[in-house]
Amino acid sequence: MKLVIDNLSKTYPNGVRALTNVSLRLTNGLFGLLGPNGAGKSSLMRTIATLQEADTGRIFLDDLDVLTNKTEVRQLLGYLPQDFGVYPTLSAERLLDHIAQVKGVGNKTERRALVEALLAQVNLFADRKKQLGTFSGGMKQRFGIAQALIGDPKLIIVDEPTAGLDPTERNRFYNLLSSLGDNTIVILSTHIVEDVSTLCSRFAIISRGEVLYSGEPGEAIKAL
Ligand code: ADP
Ligand code: ADP
Repeated sequence: MKLVIDNLSKTYPNGVRALTNVSLRLTNGLFGLLGPNGAGKSSLMRTIATLQEADTGRIFLDDLDVLTNKTEVRQLLGYLPQDFGVYPTLSAERLLDHIAQVKGVGNKTERRALVEALLAQVNLFADRKKQLGTFSGGMKQRFGIAQALIGDPKLIIVDEPTAGLDPTERNRFYNLLSSLGDNTIVILSTHIVEDVSTLCSRFAIISRGEVLYSGEPGEAIKAL
């Protein structure tokens, strides 16, 4: 897969200019979007996820014009917003089964197999019957990845997933994310340099709505 973002700009109705001529090219693997709070990361990700409009610019996922084909894009997309909500009294397996049902995945037996495989993949199989309200921050983020993986997405967008995780949880999350990238574009937004240096094959630095750098982490990361 290839994601091409071409000259994207966005000013909110209150006059805040969140994105200015953002152009990026992404291929399969983990791509880090690094920038401080307020840089425009969420605005860019919501636009790619077809949840908000841009003023100018275009986005292509292979040959698909993203901004004018929302339904098709959403079928190819796993999107995990910052502070995504869970239903605290539902068990992990119950909520995943419900989401799979909404997304039209198979019959009851097939969904059960999928849900158990996903929970094993994110290392929550033993916790599958626990209420989501009892999950730690790290467990919740890993659960979010399982949720985003339903429907076999080709593009996965994760907004600030490691913020607030302790080092152990962060490492578990790194292991999980690095297992995803081969046939999928994974975009990870973060303000944590270590997320990029540990995980990402390519990254961009975004500040005040503008891309300041885009390339491989190597030397650029050491300079930060
Ligand atoms: P980041 O995700 O990097 O923290 P955001 O994309 O959330 O950055 O925000 C970029 C800028 O746009 C900030 O100044 C933010 O306050 C502003 N902003 C974000 N969403 C909206 C909105 N819906 N309406 C107005 N301004 C917004
Ligand atoms: P963050 O900067 O932490 O990434 P988000 O961009 O996710 O925050 O914003 C959370 C919510 O608040 C979103 O619905 C966004 O549209 C809205 N929002 C953010 N900044 C502003 C702002 N300056 N004015 C109005 N709404 C905003």
